[in-house]
This record gives sequence, structure tokens and C-alpha cells, in this order.
Amino acid sequence: MTDSFSRRGLIQLGLGGAAAGVLAPGQAGAQRPDSEKLGFAVVGLGKLALGQIVPGFLNCSSAKLAALVSGHPDKARALAAAQGLPVDAIYDYGNFDRIAHNPRIQIVYIALPNFLHAEYTIRALKAGKHVLCEKPMATSIADCEAMIAAAKAADRRLMIAYRCQYEPLNLEAMRRLRSGALGRPRLVVTDMGRQSDLAEPSDAWRLDMAKSGGGALADMGIYGVNASRYLLNEEPVEVRAWAQTNRSDPRFRTTEDLISWQFRFPSGAIGEGSTSFSYAGTMAYRVLCEHGRLVADPGAFYGGNRLTVEGTAGERQPKLPEIDQFAREMDWMADVVRGKAPLVSPGEEGLQDMRLMRAILDSVARGGATIRTDWGYRRAFDPAAVVGVPAPA
Ligand code: NAD
Repeated sequence: MTDSFSRRGLIQLGLGGAAAGVLAPGQAGAQRPDSEKLGFAVVGLGKLALGQIVPGFLNCSSAKLAALVSGHPDKARALAAAQGLPVDAIYDYGNFDRIAHNPRIQIVYIALPNFLHAEYTIRALKAGKHVLCEKPMATSIADCEAMIAAAKAADRRLMIAYRCQYEPLNLEAMRRLRSGALGRPRLVVTDMGRQSDLAEPSDAWRLDMAKSGGGALADMGIYGVNASRYLLNEEPVEVRAWAQTNRSDPRFRTTEDLISWQFRFPSGAIGEGSTSFSYAGTMAYRVLCEHGRLVADPGAFYGGNRLTVEGTAGERQPKLPEIDQFAREMDWMADVVRGKAPLVSPGEEGLQDMRLMRAILDSVARGGATIRTDWGYRRAFDPAAVVGVPAPA
């Protein structure tokens, strides 16, 4: 479906806006009646699900909560009651496949630790459901490929939850760069990391290589890998990286801590990235162009992001709407399933980041050796061309 979603097809669907981009109906604020919203099953009731995803349905116009999947029956029952869900909307990991018989569920949102993404994505697809899967897509390239193949075999949509590709500040940054007003981008610098705490269960699995697939890089650095690609709208052809990891710190027994990498892009731009699980919380980037620069600091928080554009006509600090990023991507997914929005962040997007993160770790293991990364991947849709920015409230 992604490939057939041509510019022409978008125009036929009323989604082919001008260069300023387009809004999918769910994003345009058209509130559908509850009976027309698509039902989501949320799998894994951890920090993200409880803090962002479940509350996010309140702000959705096209999506609604339909079921919960958890290994903790008490937690699931209490949440279901609070959300007005019937008891038969609660599943556990053993009876999960029975979602196949629940017509109230159209989409499954995978919010589990990374090492479980592939298994539950594939089971959901086999149950005939569409899948919205959290980043990183999985813990290995082979798992990503198996997930993409399963979606194809089931003829279901698989979207990776790259919320920044649907977020106003990031979309504005992409459009400023695409407009050419700043000249050619020369250097993109992304810094994405935070302090980690082994005593936190949700960090314990992130610090375990087998469960996270890459520590800070897989959890936070992935935002920078992804951002450098969508900011430049091209793919790196080479990477080299090195790491500083204190192996006597009990947090870093199996994963790297501080990693710094360099991507070489075909346009001649260079992408520098850092990630760490031992520096203060940072999700920032800057793009240095021929005639100006663009700074997003923070650039990927849930809210309160700030964009500064220097050296160009237009607003220096454009006023951008604060939105519920999780509601927006769930609405987008619902509209993808309805055939009313393009699949901007499909499984292939997640696979590309997984390959690049592997290449970064390979380079680290080989003392900073240059690794070729020109695998021929091209994104199906430029978010800047197809995802709209709502007007400021
Ligand atoms: P978490 O540890 O808080 O939640 C994971 C849930 O999975 C818990 O409820 C846990 O009980 C359950 N679980 C089931 N089987 C498990 C097992 N075998 N081992 C461990 N837990 C198991 O993690 P989280 O912070 O909610 O992250 C979940 C996913 O969401 C991750 O993939 C993460 O990368 C992603 N995430 C994305 C964003 C974003 O901004 N898009 C933010 C945070 C997390």
C-alpha cells in the first residue's frame, strides 16, 4: 500500500496539499463519533503506556482505546474500569492471540521492552490486526525483516512510532531546510541522552544488551540517527563511531555508554551524533547551513520544544502549536488503516535505523573503522511534504 500511495493518490484523497504539506483528516481536528473511531489494543502497561499512550486517547479524533494486554491482572482490571472498558477487553500474554476474535480491535500498539516487539508484532499481524510498534523497532535486523515480511504476508499495515516525524517543531525544521532559504545544510549535530538508573525496572532492561538491542543508542541515540536522516532527507553512505564506556560502572556491563558518531551523506553534509546513559537529559540538534542555522533545543521532548532559525527571512523563533504527540500518531495510524493517510514511518524506516545502529556499534567494536551504509534505502514519503502542522491555538 505504501508504494501505491502516490502523490496523485493523495490528491485524489484530498490530501495532496501544496508545498506547505497536508493534513490527514484525523489531524485536521475532524472529531469522529466514537462508533467510527478505530479501536486500539495497548500491549504492555509500563511507563509509556500509562503516562502517555492511554491518556493520549482522550485527545484522539480517529482512534480509541479498545483493549489492554498485560501480565498483571490487577493493574489491567483497575485501568480497564477507569477507562470504561469491559472485562472481556483484557488480555494477558498467554491468551493474546484471542484478539483475532475481537472485532472491536483494529490496531495493536506495542509498548513492550524492545526484545518483545518482534514476537508481539508478528502475533498481532497473524491475528489479522494492524500494528503501531514503539521505537526501536526490534533488537536485531533479522527481527525487523521478519516483522516487515509478516505485515506483507498478512496484508496489514505496520507503522513505527517515530513521533517526531509527526510533530510540529520537527516538521517546521524540515520545511525550513527544504525551502532552501538557509542554503545547503552542511553539518547536522544531534545529542540525545540522559542519566540511567539500574534500580529502575524500566532502565534495567534498557541497560541489558539482549533486551534493549543497544543501551543508550537504541533508546535515545535512535532519535538522533532518525533526525539526521529526516532533517537532510537523505541517507548516510558511511559511518564511523567510537565509545567511552566505564565497564566498572555496574550499569554498563553489556551496553556501551557514551557513543559519538559521524555520518557522511551523499550531498556532502556530515552528521555528527552523540548519545549517553550518563550525561544530563538532552534531546537537542542543530543544523549549520550555508546561509544560516537552525537550533532545536530541546527538539524531541514530549512538550516544550524550542526552535530557533537564524540567518533567514521569517520568524526567528516560530510559534508552533503544542500537541499531544501520542494522540497525533495514533490518529495518523488510524487514518493510514482507513486508507486516508500515507504510511510515513513504515517498518522499513525502523529497519534502516536498526541497520545504522548496528553499523555504529560495529565501528565502535572495530576502533572507529569506517563502515559503508549505502544499502539503497529511500524513504517512501518525506514527512515535510505530507504531514501538516496544525495552526497555533
Ligand atoms: P517499561 O519497562 O516502563 O514498560 C514495559 C512494560 O512491559 C511493563 O509494564 C512490563 O511489565 C511489561 N513486560 C512484559 N513482559 C516483560 C518482560 N519479559 N520483561 C520486562 N517487562 C515486561 O518501559 P517503557 O518506558 O514503557 O518503554 C516501552 C517501549 O516504549 C520501549 O520500546 C521504549 O523504547 C518505548 N518508548 C518510547 C518513547 C517515545 O517517546 N516514543 C518513550 C518511552 C519509551
